[in-house]
Amino acid sequence: MNGLGASAHPDLFAMPLTLVRGVGQQKVQDLEALGIYSIGQLIEYFPFRYEDYRIRELAEVKDGEKVTVEGTVYSEAVLQRYGKNKSRLSVRVLCGSIILTAVWFNRPFLKDRLAAGQAIILTGKWDLRRKQMTVTESEFPGAASARSGTLQPVYSVGGPVTQAWMRKAISQALAQFGTLIPEVLPKELMDRYGFLPRRQAIHALHHPEEVESGREARRRMVYEELFFFQLKLHAFRALQRKRSDGVAHEFDAEAVRQFVRALPFALTDSQKKVIAEILHDLKQPFAMNRLLQGDVGAGKTVVAAVALYACVRAGAQGALMVPTEILAEQHKRSLERLFEPFGVAVGLLTGSLTDRQRRDTIASLHMGLIDIVVGTHALIQDDVLFRKLGLVVTDEQHRFGVNQRSVLRRKGLNPDVLTMTATPIPRTLAITAFGDLDVSTLRELPKGRKPIQTYAVGLDKLERVLGFIRREVLQGRQAYVICPLIEESDKLDVQNAIDVHTQMSHAFPEFHVGLLHGRLTTAEKDDVMREFSENRVQVLVATTVIEVGVDVPNATLMVIYDAVRFGLSQLHQLRGRVGRGEHQSYCVLIADPKNETAKERMRVMTETNDGFEIARRDLELRGPGDFFGTKQSGMPEFKVADMMSDFETMETARDDAAELTARPDFWTGAAYLTLREFLQREQILDGESLD
Ligand code: ADP
Ligand code: MG
Repeated sequence: MNGLGASAHPDLFAMPLTLVRGVGQQKVQDLEALGIYSIGQLIEYFPFRYEDYRIRELAEVKDGEKVTVEGTVYSEAVLQRYGKNKSRLSVRVLCGSIILTAVWFNRPFLKDRLAAGQAIILTGKWDLRRKQMTVTESEFPGAASARSGTLQPVYSVGGPVTQAWMRKAISQALAQFGTLIPEVLPKELMDRYGFLPRRQAIHALHHPEEVESGREARRRMVYEELFFFQLKLHAFRALQRKRSDGVAHEFDAEAVRQFVRALPFALTDSQKKVIAEILHDLKQPFAMNRLLQGDVGAGKTVVAAVALYACVRAGAQGALMVPTEILAEQHKRSLERLFEPFGVAVGLLTGSLTDRQRRDTIASLHMGLIDIVVGTHALIQDDVLFRKLGLVVTDEQHRFGVNQRSVLRRKGLNPDVLTMTATPIPRTLAITAFGDLDVSTLRELPKGRKPIQTYAVGLDKLERVLGFIRREVLQGRQAYVICPLIEESDKLDVQNAIDVHTQMSHAFPEFHVGLLHGRLTTAEKDDVMREFSENRVQVLVATTVIEVGVDVPNATLMVIYDAVRFGLSQLHQLRGRVGRGEHQSYCVLIADPKNETAKERMRVMTETNDGFEIARRDLELRGPGDFFGTKQSGMPEFKVADMMSDFETMETARDDAAELTARPDFWTGAAYLTLREFLQREQILDGESLD
């Protein structure tokens, strides 16, 4: 936590490293290469693990374990030299009731010190069968720099900085400046959790006497780190709400209720709940920033429609931004159907409009003739101006960068933003990556949905898969067949959509087999999609262009070629294209998994339909960095805390940060001065707000 420090103390983060005894100009550079520029940073350069030099009884040590033991030299040492400058030194040592052979490589000079009867402490790997220890470190009791009996910190070092030097430098810095380490947590939190004072905790992290004291120190520092992280998010949010420069949408609640009653189905309780949350935000004077997450098929679109309708009733415009043109067109059609009777004008803005169409649409938006515009990222181009943009909804958010969202945001008067995602964010990540968002979750699927049955089969079962497709189509249903690539590639041994389309057309001369991929023109894609949604095409061979959002409730079978090439979340998305109506649906994964992760992915898919569970497993298999598909996912890096294993602390810290920042005296009270100073340094608070 850079630059934390109470004003009463000199700031350790402003103190140069050269003040530490034994650190000269050269070493300063070496430390800088490790990202350490001040005494404060050196002191907060925490070890990532400890080396255990505590002395143990050899009798209880398992084979292959690394251990430190105490004993007496029991025989004469034997030195063998071989090769150039190589040697092996061995001696028998009595440890308790065991006589072991201690072996050193390339330490010939030790021979003279190994007189029989000499007490010695050995650290090394224990070979139980041969009663032998390969010694990595040895000490004679009473030596000044004794490591034995302790836990030694292990730092991340590199270049000219050695482990031993780092240990010394940090110990020295602590000895000289440790008393200047300020407390940063309010007393209230210290008392609530019985934390070690900061000074003591930092000492103990570097030099724990016992595992227990290291654990206590870590508990405090992890909390502190996560608390300040959450404090930033919550203070930012609280200030945002105080600022009230958003738009308070004054819509007629009864009109919205009428719209809901006119829907072709009754809303689920979950949908009602999240709609209430969103409508509540729309009425507030601050800009909403809300994430709507719900499993595929949970019915997010209609939630967005109700919100957009409310916004239009309040005299503003709405935008719905989606990742693909197919999806934009589909959404436009379905919104039009819903909105038509209510006199709401829906427009479309995608990259493939003609110049003329585009100009017209932009002009209509500017004049306010279009109430709701659906589009791809073409929506956020510079020349697109709104008359009064009130609400921006982005669908399938994982396809949009943060920047794109903020560009669109800047176009309106700080519009309300609703971000929808069908990749449920595991709680672990949501709390971290989206800590500055309010989250609404659709927990249930519309009633009457039957769980999709999923099978993983090898390519040798293709005949049976074809039989399955035939059976479904003969019963009046439709099928998707997904392939990873469009065309044959000599580099990758994968099925391709064009080949598979030919193959399927031969296999099913009696059906219409369609082909959909990214290289078709928009008009062509549109045609194919319309044919499929009207059941003029029964089998649709496609690439992943249909991954998100496509909604054809009569489709009941999803066949995925080369399923191992897709990640878990992507497979779940694809599978979510079926099971959207009242018919039993199926997913067949054609895969010949070669490695364990691939096998595990197939297993997870066949075991569960729960998007939250799948996201959790995906996270486990891929790690947080990859989860969002990019390394630049905005995931914070923590010094002490681990996002996954310290998740509960993260939750506690979040609750505490929320509670504190909601108090009026948080912004004025003396007890919170250090916290406000921190927020000021992080540029969340400006100078004046401190008083
Ligand atoms: P997603 O959350 O994946 O975007 P959609 O919004 O596409 O899901 O909805 C999936 C399907 O469920 C659509 O056909 C939609 O019309 C239908 N649907 C949505 N809400 C309900 C409901 N409350 N009852 C019945 N069907 C619903
Ligand atoms: Mg959707």
